[in-house]
Amino acid sequence: MSIEVKNVTKLYGEQKALDVINLTIKKGEIVGFLGPNGAGKSTLMKIITGYLSTSEGTVLVSGFDIITQKIEAQKRIGYLPEHNPLYLEMYVKEYLQFNASIYKIAKKEVDEIIAKVGLTSEAHKKISQLSKGYRQRVGLAAALLHNPEVLILDEPTTGLDPNQLVEIRNLIKEVGKEKTVLFSTHIMQEVEAICNRVILINKGKIVADRNLKELNENQKQVIEVEFDFKVEKQFIVAIPHLKSASNTFNTHWVLAFDTTEDMRSKVFDFAHENGLKILSLTTKNQNLESLFRTLTT
Ligand code: ADP
Ligand code: MG
Repeated sequence: MSIEVKNVTKLYGEQKALDVINLTIKKGEIVGFLGPNGAGKSTLMKIITGYLSTSEGTVLVSGFDIITQKIEAQKRIGYLPEHNPLYLEMYVKEYLQFNASIYKIAKKEVDEIIAKVGLTSEAHKKISQLSKGYRQRVGLAAALLHNPEVLILDEPTTGLDPNQLVEIRNLIKEVGKEKTVLFSTHIMQEVEAICNRVILINKGKIVADRNLKELNENQKQVIEVEFDFKVEKQFIVAIPHLKSASNTFNTHWVLAFDTTEDMRSKVFDFAHENGLKILSLTTKNQNLESLFRTLTT
């Protein structure tokens, strides 16, 4: 096991930020830690990395207790904190070499990491001159320097533009091939894009822990459709295999089916038979989305 969290509770004064958290993450997993703002994601990550103490419970990283064997445990962790603290006046390479010297890492290896995270062209710039996306790469490079087994990334894509987002996601996927990764996000789509397992947290409690492949396989089919005219529900229910139908907006319907058969053509047939035109039609991964909604509201 790479990460074992046992009965962890954290109080900030009176407030329970974490309420008896238990989870284990195996070597090689990329786990998305999903939850709304204030759910307790950063708090748990600070505890796993040894930057915050627990009120109760224990954490093991690669078998080492984060409190009693802190140095051994931290050697195995790369951490990108939520508010990635960088020395803005330092140059990229200088900053990373400075970090590397703490771990007694050779300069040659620093160059390798710089290349790996795609920072070669920016290596001679001041950190203050970098875009947010490149600053995140510097943070990621710093987290990777000592070749840790476990990576803890706290909202690594927050504040990035769409292109940077894709790049950082790909980078996480890439490094995730050889490491155990736990990354937090409040964006559902992010989890689908990067990981194979999702842990959902809400109000300090884990409310779901699912394998993404299973989640997708058990998914009920949901089609969002917009017709050119308003349709009464009494007609809609004639569409075969329909499990539920909701008229979300004027001529918009969300149709859920309990079949694996692709129902898009049946919806099209229905429209045709009733003299309607389809203005838009999309299928959705309702499962993670509905799971998130039901469990966090
Ligand atoms: P998330 O990362 O999921 O947004 P956090 O772990 O940052 O959530 O916060 C969980 C809860 O704990 C929030 O209600 C937050 O306001 C509170 N909290 C976080 N840090 C502190 C702190 N240092 N002192 C008091 N309350 C805190
Ligand atoms: Mg946070």
